[in-house]
Parts: sequence; structure tokens; C-alpha cells
Amino acid sequence: MTTVETTVREVQHFINGNYEASSDQQTFKVKNPATQEVIAVVAEATEQDVAKVCAAAREAFENGPWRTMTVAERCAKIRRMADIILERKEEIARLEALDVGKPYSHAFAAEVPRAAHNLKFFADFVEQQGGETYPMEDAYINYTRHEPVGVAGLITPWNAPFMLTTWKLGPCLAAGNTAIIKPAEMTPLSVSLLGEIAKQAGIPDGVVNIVHGKGSVVGTAITKNTDVDLISFTGSTATGKAIMRNGADTLKKFAFELGGKAANIIFEDADLDKAIPVSIQAAFLNSGQVCLAGSRILVQRSILDTFIEKYKAAAEALVVGDPQAAETKMGPLVSEEHFNKVKSYLEIAKEEGATLITGGGTPELASHLKEGYYLQPTVYLHEDPKARICQEEIFGPIVTIIPFDTEEEALRIANDTDYGLNGVIWTENLKRAHRISHGVRAGTIWVNCWFVRDLRAPFGGFKKSGIGREGGQHSLDFFTEAKNICIAL
Ligand code: NAD
Repeated sequence: MTTVETTVREVQHFINGNYEASSDQQTFKVKNPATQEVIAVVAEATEQDVAKVCAAAREAFENGPWRTMTVAERCAKIRRMADIILERKEEIARLEALDVGKPYSHAFAAEVPRAAHNLKFFADFVEQQGGETYPMEDAYINYTRHEPVGVAGLITPWNAPFMLTTWKLGPCLAAGNTAIIKPAEMTPLSVSLLGEIAKQAGIPDGVVNIVHGKGSVVGTAITKNTDVDLISFTGSTATGKAIMRNGADTLKKFAFELGGKAANIIFEDADLDKAIPVSIQAAFLNSGQVCLAGSRILVQRSILDTFIEKYKAAAEALVVGDPQAAETKMGPLVSEEHFNKVKSYLEIAKEEGATLITGGGTPELASHLKEGYYLQPTVYLHEDPKARICQEEIFGPIVTIIPFDTEEEALRIANDTDYGLNGVIWTENLKRAHRISHGVRAGTIWVNCWFVRDLRAPFGGFKKSGIGREGGQHSLDFFTEAKNICIAL
């Protein structure tokens, strides 16, 4: 077993270039979900603290050097942040494994490097931006500038805290905005480091700020604050609705990346040697706590028995254990509350008459993990796509196999959901791949793969999975205001 030192960390807000406690000294505790040990005591902001951080970000935007420095200088500092992240890769990945409970190996190999890449990518991307020009005969010429919007509230969830925060911070900073980061209260450890990393990279005080606390208090206060111009939010659909309501009076700009319930469609001509391992990843990566999880596995009936046999064996082979251990493929769920919510679907599945293929219990665990929030990789078979386990985002290691006979039926089931974040299609038939890709109403379709990301490509949801798109130009459009300048010649 690999261990991290178990001192209880103190986590503070990062305001105007300094770490500080809450004005009333209030704190809350964060636990390691693998053991229930307390691992951090975190400053819990009051509304006054939020007002202070928003004012600092406003002041830095209006009167600081950030938005007026050369693009080259700004982007060099952002790239320096990316370099520091890579230099501290192991430490950040250890922290991510500690409070999220995700396997260290995945955080180290995939998420922390991606976080660095998020920053570097947008620094490079902004440096290459041009503008539009529209000459009007010989009388006038129009040209465009893309200017920062102002102060951005970046509100992020607990499932991939560091990667998802940098995915917003990159375009936000590169465009010249200042930021208030509000990490999820259960997982503040890695994101909290972004303050010192920004400072070390030479980012001026007040440009990157971090504030901790409950979403209902701190998130709401940021959303209502008049110093904040836009909110980039990733989280649940229910919170997205609350943010939209709370931001209405101050007429903020919103970008929402919300929940999902993706169909992973396996046609009878699929290459199962590829489809099975990737579909296992799509179901159980980060204990299924992934918005893009392929949690509805639609399988053509002619290959149903073969698929179930192979999928069951692969699910049972997953190594569930200590997130810090190199061999672990799946850790615990993030918190007791979430664990109980996910487990409630075991009862719901029973009541709904689903057939349990595998899982549903507590995995075999080493003694130090006995108090952890662990659930076995769990697979159901259900004929009714309207069942709650087929409709609701469980956000845990529970997937349902739903049989279908025809392409039309697969498409109907795939689209029979309130969500539309992504879809996955397995077939060796090129025409069918295109047909189904066009038919599934979701923002990203992966054919014979999953979670492959080009940062230039649009990312976001149809229906209740989001509003707007992130990625390349789409992120920049959100974090900038286009200005047209018309000059008489
Ligand atoms: P959540 O909505 O409970 O919390 C997300 C963030 O919002 C947290 O920082 C929280 O403190 C804050 N928050 C809560 N209430 C708030 C309020 N009233 N005003 C402002 N902020 C508030 O989501 P979660 O449980 O942390 O994350 C899981 C959800 O996130 C899932 O639905 C998942 O699908 C979604 N998600 C989506 C994507 C995507 O890219 N579409 C990526 C990851 C996660």
C-alpha cells in the first residue's frame, strides 16, 4: 500500500494574493472517503468574505495590470502556471486521490497533465487569435476586438476538481478576465494550490482568487454579487437552475455544463474486444462519478448473452481498493451522503424488477478501508428504458444494460432522456455510425471510443445537460465581449 502523510491540512481562502481565514474564523472538515479520517479543516466563507473576494477581483480587473498587459506577457505567465503544475504533478495527484477518492494512478497519468494542458492550450490559442475586418467600399472599415468580460465566477464540482477548474481558468485568464474560483466543499485540496501556483507564476494579486464554503451560501453569494459579470458552472442540473434564478437580477452571462445519462450503444457488429474494456471504463472510471459515464448500455439482442458474460467478467475483474495504491482501478464514492444516495438505487432497482448481473454489495477490502464508502461495480439488466435506474443520473458505479432489436429502437431509447451530454456508438458499419451519430441528440458522440478530447472541439450538452459550449473558440466566445470599431476612411 502507498500512503500519503495523514496530517490534517488547513485550507484557507486565497484573496488578493494571500491565503486567509474567514472573517468569523468558521471552518468545516473534509474527510478521506476511503477511510473517513478527517484530512482537512477548511475556511468557510461568510457573505462578507464573498463580498471581499468579489471586490478584490473587480479591483484587479479595473485597475490592475492584467487585462492591459501584452497578450504575450499574460500568456507566458499562464504557461508558467502549467509548468509549475507539471513540476508538482505527484503532489497534486496525491491530493486529488485523497479527497475525491479517485485512483492516484489516473490523477497522475491523465487528469493533472490534462490540467496543465488546459492552461497551456488556451495561452497558445489566445496568442494566435485574429479578428474580423469588414471594409465598406472605400468609405469605412470595421474591425473587431475581443475584450475580457470582467470578473468571472468559476463554480466547479467534486468529481474532477483540478482538471475542471483549469478548464475554465485557462480561457478565463488568457482572455484577460479575473477569477473567483469556488471549488466543491468536499474536495478543496488540489484547487486550493492554484493560488500559490498563480503567485509563483507571476500572476498579479487579485487575478486568481479562491473561496471555500457551501454552495448554497458561497455559490449563491457569488452568483448574486454585482461585481461578478459571468458564471461558468459545472455541476448538477438542479444547481444550474438555482444559479440561473439567482443570477437573473444582475443579468449575468452563464455557461452551464450539467448532468448526463449517456447511452452507450453496442450493435451486433461491434468489436467486443474493444467495446468491453472501454465500456467498463465508461461505467466505472472514478467510481462512475463522471458526467460522461456511459451508464445506459444499449445492447443488440442478438449479442446480449455474449455481451453480458464478457462484461460481467470484466466488471468483476476490476481492482477496487485504496485510491493511493498503484494497482487500484476503482476507489470509494466521494462522501457518505453521496454513498447513501447511490446505494438507494439498489433498492429502487429491486423494486423496479431489474435483474442484478453482478455487484450490489461491498467489495473485499483491506482493513484500513473498512469505513470507506465503497460499492462493488454493479451491473443490472432491465427491459424497461423508462425505469428510474435507466432515467436518473446515479453518478456511481451502477450501470444498466437495456436490450434492443433494431436501429430505430436503439435511437428511440437513446433519446428517451432529459439529458443530452454525450453518446457512445460501437459498430463496424460506417454508414450506421454516421446515421446514429446524427440521430442521437447529444453534444458529443464517440464512435468506437470514449472520452477522447481535442481541446479545440466544442464540448457541452443538449437539453438539460447544459447551456453553451466549452472548448477552443467556444470558450473564448464566452469569456470575451466582441467589440466592433467602425472608422470612416
Ligand atoms: P453540485 O451542483 O451539487 O455542485 C457543484 C458546485 O456548485 C459546487 O461547488 C457546489 O458548492 C456549488 N453549488 C451548490 N449549490 C449552489 C448554488 N445554489 N449556487 C451556486 N453554487 C452552488 O454538483 P456536484 O454534486 O458537485 O457534481 C456532480 C454533478 O456535476 C453531476 O450532475 C455531474 O453530471 C455534473 N458534472 C457535469 C460535467 C460536465 O462537463 N457537463 C462535468 C462534471 C460533473
